[in-house]
Amino acid sequence: MLVVMEEGAREQQIQAVIDRMVSLGLTVHRSSGIRHTVLGGVGPSETVDLAQFEVMPGVKECHRIASPYKLASRQFRPQGTVVKVGRVEVGGERLVIMAGPCAVESEEQIEQAAEAVARAGAVVLRGGAFKPRTSPYTFQGLGEQGLKLLRAAADRHGLATVTEVMEPAQIPLVAEYADILQVGARNMQNYNLLRALGEVRKPVLLKRGPSATFEELLLAAEYILSGGNYNVMLCERGIRTFETYLRYTMDIAAIPVLHKLTHLPVVADPSHGTGRRDMVLPMARAAVAAGVDALILEVHCDPDRAWSDGAQSLRPEEFTELMVQLRAIATVLGRKL
Ligand code: PEP
Ligand code: MN
Repeated sequence: MLVVMEEGAREQQIQAVIDRMVSLGLTVHRSSGIRHTVLGGVGPSETVDLAQFEVMPGVKECHRIASPYKLASRQFRPQGTVVKVGRVEVGGERLVIMAGPCAVESEEQIEQAAEAVARAGAVVLRGGAFKPRTSPYTFQGLGEQGLKLLRAAADRHGLATVTEVMEPAQIPLVAEYADILQVGARNMQNYNLLRALGEVRKPVLLKRGPSATFEELLLAAEYILSGGNYNVMLCERGIRTFETYLRYTMDIAAIPVLHKLTHLPVVADPSHGTGRRDMVLPMARAAVAAGVDALILEVHCDPDRAWSDGAQSLRPEEFTELMVQLRAIATVLGRKL
């Protein structure tokens, strides 16, 4: 259930509502908007009589949230969430570009990529150090050494970092080097990992599983939010359909649908979404036009020799050209880049 407080409700009145919710066995999540404080009560709220809250001083209105995801629902924070990553804000006016190689391969490779993407206007450096690979015989990532190289290259170019964490035990190590913890598509329903990420306060980039419905994605986010970590971004990265021509089917409609259903920022990954460099540019443009808050793109200075995902990695000059195009689209939409 949700209790929306009046504009200017006093702290004492808010606290009285929280106390009553707690006394009914609910866990309370507080969201302070510019105008209204919203209190989300999670737990056995089906039988709670909402009228008792409606008459309390300072209360504007009460609702039941019909969707199974409560804290992720747009109703909880109608104004939207801005996830802060240092000086970068995802979900605000400015479109955020995250770019870099699929995996960190060497000091030279990540340095060259960091330099190229920073010069073109990216603000977050991506690069996997723990890689979830379809085959156990392919490159699995450099592990901690990869995290160190990613961090050092990002710091040299004033970039934030995003990298994948695959299991709960890796969280402290990855969090030491990364500004954003990525949950890969294959791990979207790894509930132990999601719960553990609810305990930290670092931003999380949660990728949509290739066969996940929006409800499943939002319930996965709910695991993290219900632990008290509200810094969650959702990422459309292509789904599996009957079509096999491309690696995945990039679901552009997911962008407006998620904006409607949730307050969480929406990110798109046209690299994994298509699997082919020549398709990344049009899909990146489409994602921005559809209202995405950020893009995550694979960029490699020598993609033909990349250790993973070379075919979908942009060359620096292609990335630079894309940035020019995206700036023009962002301007039309009243967004900055
Ligand atoms: C990645 O970003 O490198 C990755 C493995 O993505 P996904 O989990 O979407 O396949
Ligand atoms: Mn990849």
